Amino acid sequence: AKERGRNNFQFFARWMDTQVSNRLEMLVSLRQALDKDEFKLFYQPKVSIADGSIIGAEALIRWQSPEQGMVAPDRFIPFAEEAGLIVPIGEWVLRTACAQNKAWQEAGLLQIPVAVNLSPRQLDQSLPDFVRKVLTESALSAQWLELEITENVVMKDAEKTVATLNALKQLGLKISVDDFGTGYSSLSYLRRFPVDALKIDKSFVRDIARDADSAAIVKAVISLAHILNLRVIAEGVEDHEQYNFLRQNGCDEVQGYYFGKPMSVADFTLRLQQEQSS
Ligand code: C2E
Ligand code: CA
Ligand code: CA
Ligand code: CA
Repeated sequence: AKERGRNNFQFFARWMDTQVSNRLEMLVSLRQALDKDEFKLFYQPKVSIADGSIIGAEALIRWQSPEQGMVAPDRFIPFAEEAGLIVPIGEWVLRTACAQNKAWQEAGLLQIPVAVNLSPRQLDQSLPDFVRKVLTESALSAQWLELEITENVVMKDAEKTVATLNALKQLGLKISVDDFGTGYSSLSYLRRFPVDALKIDKSFVRDIARDADSAAIVKAVISLAHILNLRVIAEGVEDHEQYNFLRQNGCDEVQGYYFGKPMSVADFTLRLQQEQSS
C-alpha cells in the first residue's frame, strides 16, 4: 500500500508538472498572440424574424495560431479569464469591433450595431470610461455598439453591477443578456438591470422540436422579455423548423447557422453588400 501511495504521489507530481508547464506555455503564447496580432474577429449576422434582413452582428474572437491553426474561443477564453489576460484581450476586441463597424459605415454599408461579448472580469468600474474612450477614438456613435453580458455576471455583486451598467447605458449603447435561461437570475433583478434584450441560449433552441420542456422555456422567455419591454433574440437557429417555431411565438430576432455562420471581415463585407443590393 505504501508503494502504491508513493507511485500515486509521483504520478500526481508529474501531472502537476505538466499542468504547470502547459499553463505557463499557454499564458506565454496567448500574450504573444496579442502582441503578434494573431487574434481575429469573425462576425455573425443577427436577423429580423419579420423579414429576414440583417439588423446586427456579433463579433466572435478566434485565434489564428501559426502552430495550431484556427483556435476556437472556448479553448482559450476560459484560460485567459483565469490568467487575467482577458482584460487586454477584451480591450483589443472592443477596439477592433468598433473600428471595423466604423469602417463599414464609412464604406457606405448598412448601419448596424455590432455586439461584443464581455467577460465578468471586464465588468468593473473602469469599463464605462474605457468604452467611452474607444468610441471616441473610433468615432463610432454609441448606438452602434452592443455589449453582451452573461446572466451570472449580472447576479454577482448586483449593486456594483447595476451602477456600472447604468454608466454604460448612459453612453448610449445597448446591453443584452447572453445565454439567458442557463443561469439563475431572479425576475426582480432583471427588472432593475438596464438591459435592452435577452438572448435565449442555443441549448433551448436546439431542442425546441424534440423536447417539450425546451419549447415551453423558449415560449416563457419570449413572454417574459416582452412583459419587461425587452427585445428577445434566439441564438443557434439551425433549421427552418426552429425558425418557424420562433416566429410563431413572437421572437424578435434570430441568429444561427441557418442565416449565416460567423464570417471573416471580407465575407461579412460581401454579405452587407448583398444585403444592400437585394
Ligand atoms: P456565445 O457568446 O454564446 O456565442 C455563440 C456561439 O454559438 C459562437 O461560438 C457561435 O459561433 C456559435 N453559433 C452561432 N450560431 C450557431 C448555430 O446555429 N449552431 C451552433 N451549434 N452554434 C452556433 P464561438 O464563436 O465558438 O464562441 C463561443 C463562446 O466564446 C461565445 O459564446 C462567448 O461566450 C465566447 N466568446 C467569443 N468571442 C468572445 C470575445 O470576444 N470575448 C469574450 N469574453 N468571449 C468571447
Ligand atoms: Ca454572445
Ligand atoms: Ca450565447
Ligand atoms: Ca456562451
